[in-house]
Amino acid sequence: MNTLNSWLDIAADSDFSIYNLPFGVFSVRGGKPGLGVAIGEYVIDLYGLAALGVFDDLLPDREVLNQPYLNDFMALGKGVTAELRLRLQAWLCDTHSELYRHQELLFEQKEVSMHLPVKVGDYTDFYSSIEHATNVGKMFRDPENALLPNWRHLPVAYHGRASSIVVSGTPVRRPWGQVLPKGASQPVFQPSARLDFELEMAFVIGKNSQLGKPIPIGQAGDYLFGLVLFNDWSARDIQKWEYVPLGPFLGKNFASSISPWVVPMEALAPFRVTGPQQQPPVLPYLQYEGEQNYDIALEVGLRPEGGEETVISRTNFRYMYWNMVQQLAHHTVNGCNVRVGDLMASGTISGPDPHSYGSLLELAWAGSRPLQLAGGESRSFLQDGDTLSLRGHAQKNGMRVGFGEVSGKILPAMEG
Ligand code: CA
Repeated sequence: MNTLNSWLDIAADSDFSIYNLPFGVFSVRGGKPGLGVAIGEYVIDLYGLAALGVFDDLLPDREVLNQPYLNDFMALGKGVTAELRLRLQAWLCDTHSELYRHQELLFEQKEVSMHLPVKVGDYTDFYSSIEHATNVGKMFRDPENALLPNWRHLPVAYHGRASSIVVSGTPVRRPWGQVLPKGASQPVFQPSARLDFELEMAFVIGKNSQLGKPIPIGQAGDYLFGLVLFNDWSARDIQKWEYVPLGPFLGKNFASSISPWVVPMEALAPFRVTGPQQQPPVLPYLQYEGEQNYDIALEVGLRPEGGEETVISRTNFRYMYWNMVQQLAHHTVNGCNVRVGDLMASGTISGPDPHSYGSLLELAWAGSRPLQLAGGESRSFLQDGDTLSLRGHAQKNGMRVGFGEVSGKILPAMEG
């Protein structure tokens, strides 16, 4: 890897280094949203840049950059999206470039609004961390047989809800629902008392597949456009009562939050690592080649209303038992098709030790060991006014590629 030096001043610890260049959708002072790329403290206005004619040989129509979502741009394919990104990278290092001459096309991130980057079509949530699945199995089923018999044979998942996926910064209202009080035989209707987060990452689909035609695992990578941080807000008490026998429903679909910048797979390639050994061996359609896990450090911060933040978990995306190409090969093996803008979340990412768990359910072990926060308060589940933030970055040989953050503040339940 050559060292790249930009003429722009970029902090050494910036998530948005010259090696990253993630795509998002932004607007300035209530104006029309359009596509942007993050660099250091700035956003590059892609449509404004396109007006100089610099992408005319690459894009069929400049208007693809003047949209409220990335979908049409992603659908042009990696031949276009990766090339556009490489041009930006070169121009950011070249003082003879049009971008250098037109620095009015760089907006400070603090003066722009970020929007939901993708019009999400279908959303699927996997359950692919063996540590998380084991922890939950121990708490809710049988400590001796925490994993169900299918778990090591296929990446378990459920179909979620796209309508309630929101961008970072959007407040999340505590949901009402049916819960079964301890020892009771009849449910009651009340605001969730066990509101939780789930630390996840999600991949965005950048290419349509055909109905009836599975995506072979060796081609699955072509369909992955990029990754975001994902918080699968979860109401544990609602979830516990409703989930049998068909799985998660209203305990999950009241909100999920994503980070605003989609980090393309090309930027993450240097951080590929070997995944965990899979035992027993998987069926042939799930057997993959090469390094398919990613070394991405993740952390979770919790800040009570008016208080200071405590980092309550540190973990890594590399721990995932099932990787993304396996998830996509499995998702389509029955002929189910995927479309540009579909979102597939990893499932809660827990690591091996108790400080690396990806939910309060695990960190406070179902309320039995409340977490102490820096300001003296403790938490078993989220309280009104809490702000929960997920952050993630990869770092190696002087290159840093980060995701920024996805955060959300808990609002009190609606009046009954
Ligand atoms: Ca989840």
